[in-house]
Amino acid sequence: MDGLQARLETLVAEVRAAADWGIPANYIPELAAVDPAQVGVAICLADGTEVSAGDARVPFSIQSISKVFSLAAVLGRVGDDLWRRVGREPSGTAFDSIFLLEHEGGRPRNPFINAGALVTTDALLGNREPRQALTEVVGLLRAAAEDGEIHIDKAVAQSEKDTADRNMALLHYLKSHGNLFNAPDRVLGTYVHHCAIEMTCRQLARAGRMLALLPGAPRLVSPLRARRINALMMTCGQYDGSGNFAFRVGLPGKSGVGGGILMVAPGKASIAVWSPGLDDNGNSKVGTWLAERIAEHTGWSAFAPS
Ligand code: GLN
Repeated sequence: MDGLQARLETLVAEVRAAADWGIPANYIPELAAVDPAQVGVAICLADGTEVSAGDARVPFSIQSISKVFSLAAVLGRVGDDLWRRVGREPSGTAFDSIFLLEHEGGRPRNPFINAGALVTTDALLGNREPRQALTEVVGLLRAAAEDGEIHIDKAVAQSEKDTADRNMALLHYLKSHGNLFNAPDRVLGTYVHHCAIEMTCRQLARAGRMLALLPGAPRLVSPLRARRINALMMTCGQYDGSGNFAFRVGLPGKSGVGGGILMVAPGKASIAVWSPGLDDNGNSKVGTWLAERIAEHTGWSAFAPS
């Protein structure tokens, strides 16, 4: 696409000059230690070309972006039965909130808030060992990105596990409602490990091609499933910032507290941005700004022809 590479470079330079980075997630010690002054972007286009700028080759913790891929794996495993245990509505609450869970009988609103992702992880485990479930998620990402290097950062997983009181509370609450079949610590261990998958913007953009249904992308989910996952990313992908993200960017996207955001412009592009500083909803501050500028430049939108 004309001028996209140059535009990305200008945007990255603007971000660096402004140096208004925000603060990385501080409740996971390993993430709190990440240098906030980093910004990367990578885009895979429908014609098979890739453009990137900034720190696009620096690995970061994908955190909740992994929920998209664990969901894809679970839907392949249990199909629509998952929806008996998890809803498909935006929550309007923080990603780690227990509030709605109490009001709604232990059925989380959607698979992207922590409660929903913990149920999804329980379903992913089934009767298997955590190692097998994790091999499936990492394998899906490797196949989607066509990159065998993608792996889990064990130090991040351990750091989150050591400080996971809130997720443990959610797990016990789910169990008390009969919506958890594996032991809470087993589900937690699996969850923190898939959240601790480490990827670069370039790897993440490549992995997103299957959701954007780009020609030539590995076909690992059906078009209908990709469309539905994209719908959930649009309505629930940024937690209580989802409406604002749809307004500002207008593309399905999934954020993680590592500062990454994966977005899809169906049929046109898969986009990954990363900068570790977060806004009040736990979404990348600079990443959202960049996403907005990219949508502006390209005209890509779920709500208008481009
Ligand atoms: N692993 C993180 C947690 O459970 C993921 C949260 C996120 O990225 N929003 O708190």
